[in-house]
Amino acid sequence: MKHVYFFGEGRSEGDGSMKELLGGKGANLAEMAGLGIPVPPGFTITTQVCRHYQEHEGAHPEALEAQIEKHLQLLEGATGKAFGDADCPLLVSVRSGAAVSMPGMMDTILNLGLNDEIVAALASAAGDERFAYDSYRRLLQMYGDVVMGLKPETEADPDPFEEILDAVKAEVGATLDTELSAEDLKRLVERFKKVIEQKVGRAFPQDPKEQLWGAIEAVFRSWDNPRAMKYRALNNIAGLLGTAVNVQAMVFGNMGEGCGTGVAFTRDPATGENAFYGEYLMNAQGEDVVAGIRTPKPIIELAEEMPQVYEQLTGIRSKLEQHYRDMQDIEFTIERGQLYMLQTRTGKRTAFSWLRSQVEMVHEGLITKEEAVARIPADDYSKLFAPILDQEDIANRKLVPMTQGLNASPGGASGQAVFSAEEAEQRAERGEKVILVRIETSPEDIGGMSVAQGIVTARGGMTSHAAVVARGMGCPCVAGAGELHIDYGAREITVRGTKIREGETLSIDGFTGDIYSAAITVKPSEILQVLTGQMKAEDSLLYRQYAEFMGWVDERRTLGVRTNADSPRDVATAVAFGAEGIGLTRTEHMFFEGDRIVAMREMILAEDEAGRRAALAKLLPMQREDFEGIFCALDGRPATIRLLDPPLHEFLPHDAEGQRDVADVLGVKVEAIREKVEALDEVNPMLGHRGCRLGITYPEISEMQARAVLEAACAVHKAGISVRPEIMIPLVGHVRELALQREVVVRVAEEVLKEQGLSKAEIPYLVGTMIEVPRAAMTADEVAGEAEFFSFGTNDLTQMGCGFSRDDAGRFLKTYVAQGIYDRDPFQALDQGGVGKLVRMACELGRKARPNLKLGICGEHGGDPSSIRFFHDAGLDYVSCSPFRVPVARLAAAQAALANE
Ligand code: ADP
Ligand code: MG
Ligand code: MG
Repeated sequence: MKHVYFFGEGRSEGDGSMKELLGGKGANLAEMAGLGIPVPPGFTITTQVCRHYQEHEGAHPEALEAQIEKHLQLLEGATGKAFGDADCPLLVSVRSGAAVSMPGMMDTILNLGLNDEIVAALASAAGDERFAYDSYRRLLQMYGDVVMGLKPETEADPDPFEEILDAVKAEVGATLDTELSAEDLKRLVERFKKVIEQKVGRAFPQDPKEQLWGAIEAVFRSWDNPRAMKYRALNNIAGLLGTAVNVQAMVFGNMGEGCGTGVAFTRDPATGENAFYGEYLMNAQGEDVVAGIRTPKPIIELAEEMPQVYEQLTGIRSKLEQHYRDMQDIEFTIERGQLYMLQTRTGKRTAFSWLRSQVEMVHEGLITKEEAVARIPADDYSKLFAPILDQEDIANRKLVPMTQGLNASPGGASGQAVFSAEEAEQRAERGEKVILVRIETSPEDIGGMSVAQGIVTARGGMTSHAAVVARGMGCPCVAGAGELHIDYGAREITVRGTKIREGETLSIDGFTGDIYSAAITVKPSEILQVLTGQMKAEDSLLYRQYAEFMGWVDERRTLGVRTNADSPRDVATAVAFGAEGIGLTRTEHMFFEGDRIVAMREMILAEDEAGRRAALAKLLPMQREDFEGIFCALDGRPATIRLLDPPLHEFLPHDAEGQRDVADVLGVKVEAIREKVEALDEVNPMLGHRGCRLGITYPEISEMQARAVLEAACAVHKAGISVRPEIMIPLVGHVRELALQREVVVRVAEEVLKEQGLSKAEIPYLVGTMIEVPRAAMTADEVAGEAEFFSFGTNDLTQMGCGFSRDDAGRFLKTYVAQGIYDRDPFQALDQGGVGKLVRMACELGRKARPNLKLGICGEHGGDPSSIRFFHDAGLDYVSCSPFRVPVARLAAAQAALANE
């Protein structure tokens, strides 16, 4: 079996399509070399070898060693240098790279192949001692960390290498690494070697081959390190073989004059603007640019500093965009005026950048509308509606930023300052909003970053770890705010003399980079402001591109999208977002407001039917009014209205004080209330007296609700707005339950129509049921005999289908997901293999019995892209989700349709 693939100008054995096997980095290096772009040659060890390593306790496939030897010789031939040779040494980098890019997740080692003897040879060959020892100290640092495991023990500890580096700098009065002389670097090398030997108990290996194997194995090991696993878990990355290893000839950006290194995006990763966007540092190597050690220069300055290189680079920029037909994220190095490309991959970007880049690429003729629709990640799409800092609040209070950094990831955020990822996680767990403030972030901070409202760093540029990860998460971020002096020990920041302690409030504006030492109101996004008439469309490019793009989405979408809404305001928001109706109105929410709860309690406490009817009569006009508001807001769109669902005890207070208050208001004895609460107490209320079981024992409740719906419908119809009510009976398990309730609803509906002098043609009401009890799904053909529509209540269906209590499962579901029992929390992403089967079965049985049966889903899953794909495939007519998820659902539905073409 072939384990190793060569790449290099004109001689690549792989190409860009082989990401599974060569990893994204390796496949794209091969592809770029194939395009005639200058890439230092090298070879890629496949992801299969990593898998083999995992499965065989660190053993390699037998043929590997010989294949690596052969490819090393090829590489020596291509470079005219020899690995381990003191006269003309070949140095290499060892780089990881899985099929899906995971920035910063696995570690790269540069300058491998140096030792005490070779470094001296390199110095004289390059005529540059400083360069040679700078390369060596970097190798010791990276190798010591990644392969030999010499890292800080806790978050608070300093990095052992950085500590020495800082000490040497202090001794010679240098602030930047570049100010260290060859002699200083030699001392640094000696100290690094010593600290490795002391702390690891082994010396840095002088044998280049041993170094190479050590590095290869470290890359394989890093596949399963906790931060790589955490990243994969956070991003739902599963099913990969492992990481590939790229061994590549070094090119040197740290060889003094005319040398440098940089990273760039072919378009702006924050806004999506079609502008070359990047940063570079002269006389630097590898991750210096992103590590925030020195603040890099914007790419445009390269046009002056090295015009020819800049021109060549912009040429490659457009070549890559034309070739890959999407925004690329690239790494390059300049060695003595010679440009080399070291990486290209599809650029990670914010939802804003996705939208703008794709819409503009369609306008440019680079991609089709369908490609644009298929590409924009639906999971992130709701970030477009992310809040922004309220500019009026800032103006009114005359707030001025306490300092500024780079606008690394858009969005406004306000929260308590915290200075460690751990602290962020702990406070977030308690429901607090935090802004994570770090000097710079590293992959260890991922957990804290993912729970923060916003991220601030004192060092680092637009492509720093913090910036890249924040954009990926859609978390507002201000990076490189150099005026912040962060003291981790004292847990405080000083900015020009002002102190901010941990827990004090900060606000950040990821659009501008401003940081405020105050709480600031956070306001809706521009799109929402245009939709609600607070801003004009022509003033918002974001809105106009959104509207155009959603037009393309709707051209492709076949699945309907409705919303779950209980108030006219929610309906209006959802309709503005494109909802085509209501998929679920929960009527019980209407019983909590104002006097209603009083009438509701009267009804519950009533001794007999007559008493209940008296109380219900008070509720009727209020409920009717609610429905009128909703029907008006819907303006002719259909509305599925669910009859009362929760157990009655939820409407009564359980504490003594609350019970006394109710007794006072209703003029009854407090004992009566307590007795009723006790009488209604259930061991398992979720499986108790709720849903249609209420309507069956107290039909007068269903009667009142049906009457309210129909009377409202008639009134709104008479006002000239058409109405399409769909009355939904919840929690049906047996067709006879539905038949009984249906009979009540139809009887009342016909009565009302007669009273109002209207016909069913004028008020085309439907009666249907929620499918949420597994028995109903399994007998869906019978149930369909009494139902004109089904709406899958996938929350309860999951609860009863998997047997997980919705209220208690949080305690163990995390473990279940971590252990891979379920890929994702089944309450978030539909359990397609189990609960999904019930859904499919109910669809098939139901439509067999009633071919025009309308099918929808109104559980939480209606807003989840992967679940929406499933519902599309299962043949549902629509999904229903919360108002803010509506655009996400529309996009996911269009993507589902495109995926099946
Ligand atoms: P990551 O996956 O974290 O981006 P990379 O493998 O891309 O890690 O490498 C880290 C840094 O080292 C990058 O800046 C890259 O450009 C640089 N680098 C990697 N290989 C070489 C090489 N052969 N010559 C010069 N620089 C290199
Ligand atoms: Mg890295
Ligand atoms: Mg890289």
